[in-house]
Amino acid sequence: MKSNFIIENSKIVVIGGCGTVGSLMARILKDNGADVTVSDLSTNSPQIETLKEEGIHLNLGEHDESILKSADIIAVAPSLINNHKLIERIKKLTDVKIISIDEVLSFCNINKPVIGVTGTNGKTTTTWMLKHILKGAGHKVPEHKLEIQGNTELIPSLQARLNGTVAVLEIGTFGNPDEIKRSALNSQVSIGIMTNISKDHLNNSRKFSDYIKCKSEIVEVADLLVFNADDPIIASLELGKKPHNNLFYGIEHIKSNFNAYADKRKCPLCNADLKYKMHYLGHLGIYECTCGFKRPHTHVKAYDIEDDHFTLVMGSNEAKIKLKNRGIHNVYNALAAACGAMALGIDFKDIVRGIESFEGVKGRFEEFNVNGKYVIVDYAHNPAGVRAIIQTLLQKKSHNSKLIVVNTISSESGIEGDIEIAKILKDADIIIVASNASRMALMETETNSQVVMAESSKKSSKTGTLGASKEQVGESLKIAISKAEDNDMILVIGEGGVKYSSEILKEFKN
Ligand code: ZN
Repeated sequence: MKSNFIIENSKIVVIGGCGTVGSLMARILKDNGADVTVSDLSTNSPQIETLKEEGIHLNLGEHDESILKSADIIAVAPSLINNHKLIERIKKLTDVKIISIDEVLSFCNINKPVIGVTGTNGKTTTTWMLKHILKGAGHKVPEHKLEIQGNTELIPSLQARLNGTVAVLEIGTFGNPDEIKRSALNSQVSIGIMTNISKDHLNNSRKFSDYIKCKSEIVEVADLLVFNADDPIIASLELGKKPHNNLFYGIEHIKSNFNAYADKRKCPLCNADLKYKMHYLGHLGIYECTCGFKRPHTHVKAYDIEDDHFTLVMGSNEAKIKLKNRGIHNVYNALAAACGAMALGIDFKDIVRGIESFEGVKGRFEEFNVNGKYVIVDYAHNPAGVRAIIQTLLQKKSHNSKLIVVNTISSESGIEGDIEIAKILKDADIIIVASNASRMALMETETNSQVVMAESSKKSSKTGTLGASKEQVGESLKIAISKAEDNDMILVIGEGGVKYSSEILKEFKN
């Protein structure tokens, strides 16, 4: 059944090839040896440059009839496959085979190891750090080259099919059953990395136990799993499953004087309160239960963490590491990436070099100097993410300086999550309310911090996962900068802040 058409050396026109999914279809067909032309009514897609670089021909602004007529196969992007008028028009012009995303997925093989990264926080940074390590070790790693925040279910399975020697995919979810499983199966994930599980994308109707079930679906698909041992829920996932040669990573020892936010967890086996010997970040730490459940033995370990450096231990190998990005959450990201690289058999020296030279990801702890005022922009948008960034900054802050937080979050964790975030922000000296969601949450929360509500935050401007408009971010940043003195830190959290801050701050500079 597989050979009723041949991709190699065929002339294939991809209709709608400027979109996110369409552009990946075009690139995969090209990688499989086809002569590809993208035909799209759009003329200003951000994908055009990538398509050109890959040697794909372009037919933009129209669907040129002579190009359609000369094709051996016509592939149609999912957004257009149900456009009957368009499909009828193609059928009148030519009787060649019309294929959809399903045929591209089944006819183009993956032929490489695939690592899927999942969890609540740290997915993106772990994915990028691991890719960076692998590239430094000589691997070719497929990139989707799309500006996407969050997840589109088809992207991982398409990205896995692009040219390369090993694929690293971020596999996200909106918390719906089977999303991760489908994504992992379609992209043939062989190694799964699980970073941590805390509340995210939860609203009142959804239980945390259902969310855990969704997030852990990768366990059913991958042959080998890389687990964060310091997360009790993740540590419990391998119990009762088929025997794996799973790898665990975790923090063994912290050197510096350390105040962590401590979040309690129940024992996943008997539901008693877990006893924590040490909390590193939220519910991550060293724990045990009277029933015998305890943190597993680790294969990749961090010792002597102090600010941005630590000792990495993997088997008999040991190295002092200096990260370019500080914070306990970044130590965890480094351990996850190191453990993933170890599963692939990468040399220890390549792992160390990769971790140390990794610059970070856009929108994660991005630092700006605006006329002498220090601004940090971070994508943190759920309680665990906000806790991580606030913990990092409180450790960095001197006694006579202030922490000013601009909150642009968009209620991705529901009003309960927003209120939890508002409570964490009590540790800030000044809170600037930018989004409508953060305004609602603050009105439900008692705080001793100074609070300034941006006038524009009265309006709700939520679109998708974006919670604040450019106007709201702009007004709030202006207030923050007017209140900041030279030693203070301004932290902007949420997706709206990531999207608009760098542009707005550039306008502020004089
Ligand atoms: Zn127990």
